[in-house]
Amino acid sequence: MTRTTPPRPVDLEAVFPELAPLARTATRLHPRPGVPSPQDSSIGGPLLWPANEPWPHCREDAHHTGPVPLMSLADVRLRRRLELARGIREAVARPSREGWGYTTEERELLERIQPPDKPEGPIAMLPVAQLSLRDVPGLRPPEGTDLLQVLWCPFEHADGMPTTAVFWRSAAAVDEVLLTPPEPAAVSDAAYVPEPCLIHSEQVIEYPNSPELEKELGQRLDRWAIAEFGVEYQKLCIAPGFKVGGYVNWGMTDPYPNLCPTCGTQTEPLLTISGREWYFDVHHWIPYEDQAANLAWGPVQGGPKSPTRICVSDDNAQIIRICPTSPEHSHTQMMQ
Ligand SMILES: [Zn+2]
Ligand SMILES: [Zn+2]
Repeated sequence: MTRTTPPRPVDLEAVFPELAPLARTATRLHPRPGVPSPQDSSIGGPLLWPANEPWPHCREDAHHTGPVPLMSLADVRLRRRLELARGIREAVARPSREGWGYTTEERELLERIQPPDKPEGPIAMLPVAQLSLRDVPGLRPPEGTDLLQVLWCPFEHADGMPTTAVFWRSAAAVDEVLLTPPEPAAVSDAAYVPEPCLIHSEQVIEYPNSPELEKELGQRLDRWAIAEFGVEYQKLCIAPGFKVGGYVNWGMTDPYPNLCPTCGTQTEPLLTISGREWYFDVHHWIPYEDQAANLAWGPVQGGPKSPTRICVSDDNAQIIRICPTSPEHSHTQMMQ
């Protein structure tokens, strides 16, 4: 099914012609739970990984573990299944409180979960995204390649995010696919285990957020958006959720240079990893096709707003950036 974002409540360029030359295309990926194959573009799905190529592992010495107990992948999946069953029951029961919460049987299953031991040695990375140029027109892969693969280590690292690995390859060059890749024995947070999703990409136009604009224009836009629509301008100009390209939604920090570690060129956003596909108070980013489901789920946990179940550091976006002169140069990552 395609996904179509409704138009913004206002044509930003018509009101602020200064924005027109800054318009940039982003590709919203619209991940939705499914059963992707290694040949599909996906979030959290199996990768088209050559059987004769070593699977990426994170070799960080000390993996940070916080106050939350470690979890095995099997337990993350069990917990998700039970949460989904409960979410569906509650969505159906609304507004009555009948049938809310877990059943006795579900509670017993959850109580049986024991944290695994802290893993020793390198940790097998988890697939986060596999994107084919065929499905994502804005991808811009290096010459001779048509497939982007992004994996991460499901632990928080020194920069507050999972460490990522980025690969470009030609899909046609993969003969034999690795069917049972290694998996990490534990994850530090269930929110670092992406739910397998198929993507439904759609190109949208974005404009820079006010911190990236000339100060007077930025202030004018911020005041105008609140006065006219009662929402921050940043929620009008930049698409939320998983996307390729587009602008960074600065807000956690002021914009800062993010240089290519190989050649020093200013990097550009490649992939934005975000667990929240739209805001609770701005509805025009909800595709037409999801509006009924969004209403049905309402405030219930899970649902179409957070299809990937990812949450990086209090629902921030993790942005993978690459060098515009040479996408093979080492990538960088940042949070906003
Ligand atoms: Zn790691
Ligand atoms: Zn570079």
